[in-house]
Amino acid sequence: MPTSLPLLPDSLINGRPAMLGVLGGGQLGRMFVHAAQALGYDTIVLDPDPTSPAGLVSHHQIQADYSDPAALADLAARAQAITTEFENVPADALAVLAGQRPVAPAAEAVAIAQDRVREKAHFVRSAQSSGVAPAPHAVIESEADLARIPADLLPGILKTARLGYDGKGQARVATRDELAAAWRATGGVSCVLEKMLPLALECSVIVARGRDGELASLPVQRNLHRGGILAVTEVYEGNLPEALIQKALAATRQIANDLQYVGVLCVEFFVLEDGTLVVNEMAPRPHNSGHYTVDACDCSQFDLQVRTLAGLPLPAPRQHSAAIMLNLLGDLWFDAEGQARALPWSEVLALPGAHLHLYGKVEARKGRKMGHLTMTGANTEDVRASALRAAAFLGLEAF
Ligand code: ATP
Ligand code: MG
Repeated sequence: MPTSLPLLPDSLINGRPAMLGVLGGGQLGRMFVHAAQALGYDTIVLDPDPTSPAGLVSHHQIQADYSDPAALADLAARAQAITTEFENVPADALAVLAGQRPVAPAAEAVAIAQDRVREKAHFVRSAQSSGVAPAPHAVIESEADLARIPADLLPGILKTARLGYDGKGQARVATRDELAAAWRATGGVSCVLEKMLPLALECSVIVARGRDGELASLPVQRNLHRGGILAVTEVYEGNLPEALIQKALAATRQIANDLQYVGVLCVEFFVLEDGTLVVNEMAPRPHNSGHYTVDACDCSQFDLQVRTLAGLPLPAPRQHSAAIMLNLLGDLWFDAEGQARALPWSEVLALPGAHLHLYGKVEARKGRKMGHLTMTGANTEDVRASALRAAAFLGLEAF
């Protein structure tokens, strides 16, 4: 039976509530499943890992690869609407599913976000309206492109066009020789060289856009990265200058509208030392910097993902508590000698406003996202005090 929208959670199909599907079984999928289940939907996850964080909490899991045609057919037969939590899911898989069911985001938007070359071109286009441009950059796809690189892009960061995340697929290069060596070391794949910019800080904006073009936005997040991985997100009154907040929101809306985007979209920005706002990259899904919304807003980024997928209304979310999120990487589970250690959860959970989220991953590895801790408080002062205490208990560097 074809899906009619809005897809209401209590519409029964074969005697069960409507089912929402998600491609990918990571922590983002897990939190999507939580939000979908809270509304009453059944859920189904497609992921090859039998112990994936989302698969463990979903009603159903199809244990197969994202591009397995039989698995995709099974997913389309069972789920009434389908989303993705994983931006490197093959865009073709989304296109196939979209032939049979409502899919958000669309394959084309995901294909653009997956490819830094296309993503940068999209940002350049949206900058004509928003005035917020990406970093100066050049595409490198051949030795000839290498030879043509303008000197003022160095020192820079070479980023592979595809499959980069958490700083992977990136090399910092100071000279032409280093650039040439770094590009050849990628195997000569399509890359973008970005000028190294003097960053004062980083921020991100999450918006949800419905099929009718209706937009809801979340507060602007201030982000601290360590080693190329998000470490801390701070969202409270005064986390960023107001003019910058308005500019980042407007630029994000422009990017979403120019893509005719449907679903949840996160756009990451740099703020330079001279105050200039620069657009960095986008994720066609909920984002690590939006995890605080589960505990600090009256509508989380995952609620918005469910609503955009099911065609439900998108009222403006309101943040009710100041929030700081600390990412919990696998490194924390080891002491200085590399021995496994117990974490002081009792001390952490005794702090006011502590919300611990662990993703059900049993093997801690360096750099692996095991969970996050959101601290909420009545105001900036309170939340900073409790988050700094939590960081000290955990052995995380102060911020
Ligand atoms: P993500 O996990 O967010 O997808 P990623 O691996 O795709 O990360 P980027 O967001 O491009 O990588 O870069 C990771 C971090 O490296 C940025 O958050 C920023 O701290 C730093 N960085 C990236 N590009 C530049 C630049 N042009 N100038 C200065 N710093 C940069
Ligand atoms: Mg990034």
